[in-house]
Amino acid sequence: MGKALIIGAGGVANVVVHKCCQNSAVFTKICIASRTKSKCDQLKAKLQGKTTTKITTAQVDASDVNQLITLIEQEQPDIVIHVALPYQDLTIMEACLATKTDYVDTANYEPEDTAKFEYKWQWAYRERFEKAGITALLGSGFDPGVTGVFCAYAQKHYFDEIHNIDILDCNGGDHGYPFATNFNPEINIREVSANGSYIENGKWVETKQMEIKRVYDFDQVGEKDMYLLRHEELESLALNIRGVKRIRFFMTFGQSYLTHLKCLENVGMTSIEPIIYEGKEIVPLQFLKAVLLDPASLGPCTVGKTNIGCICQGIKDGKPASYYIYNVCDHQACYKEVGSQAVSYTTGVPAMIGAMLVMTGKWKKPGVYNVEQFDPDPFMDALNQWGLPWTEDFHPVLVD
Ligand code: NDP
Repeated sequence: MGKALIIGAGGVANVVVHKCCQNSAVFTKICIASRTKSKCDQLKAKLQGKTTTKITTAQVDASDVNQLITLIEQEQPDIVIHVALPYQDLTIMEACLATKTDYVDTANYEPEDTAKFEYKWQWAYRERFEKAGITALLGSGFDPGVTGVFCAYAQKHYFDEIHNIDILDCNGGDHGYPFATNFNPEINIREVSANGSYIENGKWVETKQMEIKRVYDFDQVGEKDMYLLRHEELESLALNIRGVKRIRFFMTFGQSYLTHLKCLENVGMTSIEPIIYEGKEIVPLQFLKAVLLDPASLGPCTVGKTNIGCICQGIKDGKPASYYIYNVCDHQACYKEVGSQAVSYTTGVPAMIGAMLVMTGKWKKPGVYNVEQFDPDPFMDALNQWGLPWTEDFHPVLVD
């Protein structure tokens, strides 16, 4: 069928590459391109001979639009799957515009010098993508991504209006180390060390960092502490789900993670303000990333499960209704299948599915869209088919 250019060669890219190679009927060719070419070559070596998908590799600095344009012109992909870092969203979108190539990512843009993620920068490309006749599918990971598709599915099949959405992200996995992040440490720490916020009646309500805590009993994981965080899908769901009044996002954290994070914050290691060290400018958080474990290396030692999903409350046929939909994913099962832990797996599978739906025309529409703006049904079927089956509960325990 077609060719994908996969940008990035980290934990999530490893899963995208495996899944595209499993789905060779759609992805007949892929090119893996990243800053460090040897990592792309290692990925190619793992899959070569085990798939009919033809794999090539390339070196690219994805913050340089001209390098990207040259690469896209040379490789002629039908779609770019961007699984490098959110800092490169806009340069990659620019290159897709210049070459009229479809685009998919898993995280919204944030400028490197301000830890503030918002859709405004990417939504500003709507008209240009429409005019160019190409599709940009934003946030096709798990959260954002599957969580938005779950809400669209709930809206389509079970509600006239959804009033409250609670997104619950539980990682019940244990990697055995006192402190490690389960995806890119820099992006992860920027996210969790920010103030919390949620949306109520169309407005953001700010909370202090980790101020709102709840305990929830997750299917196949058990009871966990979870904390309210600001998260990017709240911004788009507030606009795209009809009648919604309140949307919150909770993530589970263990006490050891929180104690380490507080200590690192207290000593200034999570700061993104550059400092001078031995005559050279360094950013403390980037230095911290360099000494922390690479999340991609956690695969072999992580045991346990993730459980991520959405609780929706609203009305159907004039009566109150509530609905919980979630996926449970086993870290070791993921590792056995693709050599990654579940956090990379739950992000990489939906990135492949989003790209497949754009390539096959089911989700192809000129412009810039969030996942919940498309028909959720083909995505939901593909989740069951490609390793992320979901469970529904029509009488869930609600979060107060
Ligand atoms: P990693 O840090 O493991 O991998 C990032 C990759 O991007 C590395 O291969 C890195 O190259 C490459 N890269 C960084 N800068 C550049 C550049 N300028 N040019 C080319 N390549 C570059 O991250 P993850 O795989 O854990 O995460 C990937 C993305 O997925 C992130 O954007 C993250 O926010 C997102 N994510 C989304 C989730 C969701 O549910 N929606 C959940 C988890 C992650 P090098 O090897 O040289 O460093």
